[in-house]
Amino acid sequence: MPPIQTTIKCPSCGTPQPALLEQVIDVGRDPGSKTRLLQGRLNFFQCPGCGFQGMLASPLVYHDPLKELLLTFVPPELRLSPIEQEKILGGLTQQVLNALPPEQRKGYLLRPQAVLTAQGLMERVLEADGITKEMLEEQRAKSKLVRDLVDAEPDARPALIQEQDGRIDSDVLALIGAIARSAAGKEDKAFAEKVLKARDDVYRLSTAGKRAQTQKEEMDAAARDLEVLGREFNLDALVKLVSSAPSLDRVTALAALAWQVMDYAFFQRFTETLEKTVGSERERLTAIRDRALEEVQRVQQAMQSEMNLTAGVLQSILQAPDLDAAIEEHLPECSDLFFAVLEANLESARRNKQENAIQRLEEVKAKLLAALENSLPPELRFVRDLLGAENDEQAQKLLAERPAEVTDNFVAALRATVKDLEPTPQEPLAARMKRLLDLAEKQLAMAKFTGK
Ligand SMILES: [Zn+2]
Repeated sequence: MPPIQTTIKCPSCGTPQPALLEQVIDVGRDPGSKTRLLQGRLNFFQCPGCGFQGMLASPLVYHDPLKELLLTFVPPELRLSPIEQEKILGGLTQQVLNALPPEQRKGYLLRPQAVLTAQGLMERVLEADGITKEMLEEQRAKSKLVRDLVDAEPDARPALIQEQDGRIDSDVLALIGAIARSAAGKEDKAFAEKVLKARDDVYRLSTAGKRAQTQKEEMDAAARDLEVLGREFNLDALVKLVSSAPSLDRVTALAALAWQVMDYAFFQRFTETLEKTVGSERERLTAIRDRALEEVQRVQQAMQSEMNLTAGVLQSILQAPDLDAAIEEHLPECSDLFFAVLEANLESARRNKQENAIQRLEEVKAKLLAALENSLPPELRFVRDLLGAENDEQAQKLLAERPAEVTDNFVAALRATVKDLEPTPQEPLAARMKRLLDLAEKQLAMAKFTGK
């Protein structure tokens, strides 16, 4: 449903401001709306007067036809009477119903479930995706642990790490790493230093941190080894490299990187070498071979099941009687790997001159690309068009030509993208996005000023 243009009172300074409100989130019609809700970008408002920013309180109806989910939410701070609530929610629910063809109007639509808080709404939506409250709570507990680790006094931190060692896992490490990367690009140098120090302490002192550090060092070392080998690659050199690995961790790293060349011939040659040895050397080489075999098989299996899944998706699309419906259904599964598989199929059909197959594959490809394009929220599509412009002048011209699309939501989307790029300020894209944001903000402010 299109957002409605309305006037609200800024929750902070009370000045009336124009704003766009989305009150019906219909995932069936606009898959991007769910993401906007979960990322807190839905009904995001920034007051041009006082700079306040946040989510506007508004009655919402959330509908996901695939999950048969119909939720309603009225923020308590709106202080609406039960009759007023009923009236507003009734109207919004009716919009959902009206948008559905009669055959899709099922029983769950008659029993909307009310949620009492904005957080409750997100929890219900995530729960339908199989993300339970317990998982969310665990995630929250981990975030809190990371905050505690960052905020701890430097002298007290080692003791805290020791005390919480059992709870510090790869998630916690990833989280603290992400905070450190994001802080590194920001103005607040003192904070960035504090996070960096915290991250180093956690890696240096926790069990999981030490383990990750070792694995990373082994990966780096394995990559260097293979690079040297790459200059004059042959089977004997690879066997020599793997058999002289200083640790089983290095063997795992080598296999993870070079699994494609660690084939039957490699293991055969390795076994020949092994059989010429005796005693502890033979034991050492056997352990290395077993570890390498295990890792290569693990990677191959993961690759294979990914390929099978992908090929299965392609087959079901190719055979679907209703191609458009099939594409819509499988769109979320169409990864880069999927397109690689599709291209490979096309390639083979062309080689074998299978005209029917070529035609069907081409049709699927064209429709998929168009559907992917359309699945982008309109704001992001506009951002992409702007990035496609040759230079800032062209971009400015595009902005001027499409004033109706330069909305608060659009500027909010741009701002979010600029924020995402903050950790990499040196990238040309980051600077470019920032200039686009400036241009768009200027144009929007101007439009508001002139009342257009
Ligand atoms: Zn304000």
